[in-house]
Amino acid sequence: MKPIIGISSNLKEQVLSVSTNNIHAISEFGGVPIVLPNIEGESVDAIANMIDGLLLTGGGDIDPTLFGEEPQPALGNITPERDVFEIALIEKMLELNKPILGICRGVQILNIAAGGNMYQDIYTQSENKLLQHDQKAPSTHASHFVWVMKDSLLSDIVKVDTFKVNSFHHQAVRKVPEGFEVSAIASDGTIEAIESKNHAFVIGVQWHPESLLLKKEAMSSTIFQAFLHACKK
Ligand code: MN
Repeated sequence: MKPIIGISSNLKEQVLSVSTNNIHAISEFGGVPIVLPNIEGESVDAIANMIDGLLLTGGGDIDPTLFGEEPQPALGNITPERDVFEIALIEKMLELNKPILGICRGVQILNIAAGGNMYQDIYTQSENKLLQHDQKAPSTHASHFVWVMKDSLLSDIVKVDTFKVNSFHHQAVRKVPEGFEVSAIASDGTIEAIESKNHAFVIGVQWHPESLLLKKEAMSSTIFQAFLHACKK
């Protein structure tokens, strides 16, 4: 049986959307992709029980009141219904110890759901001298390096200390929640990946492996392969 993978979607003006790169990535590595709605209530538990794994896709910014802050001037567009749905679904998936792969916004909402906080805008809030994290290069181009933490799940997956990723974010993980740890950072100190220490496969990356797959980038293949492998268990 192929594992069923829930893929979170964006919501704008009553229309759901998701990049088909996410759908193709799940299909390519042996999963059945199911695009998820942004809803509330009992259906969230039903969805968590039905799916074998959750792919949290990229998108806009996250409502800062969810981590105890008011909106800073540089905050971008937020999707409150999506935030609420994804947080409820993540909580249930963590309870069930089912695999989660977070991408870009996905690593951020995973972090918030687990009790962490974040930079609403790294360029105005980080004290570090920053790289360009909102790259002007095409989405299939890996633009900056990440360094992988030793003894992490990510390190087990990619089996290298450093590699290049694409980068389309102005928000980032700030405080990692209890039970989680940083699994990769950029040279400017920006957190680029986190993972749970208490779950079999719960990991979020700040880049877009689903786009790099279009160029057959090795690390992206390995990450999706490992995720689908975990979902089959
Ligand atoms: Mn980056």
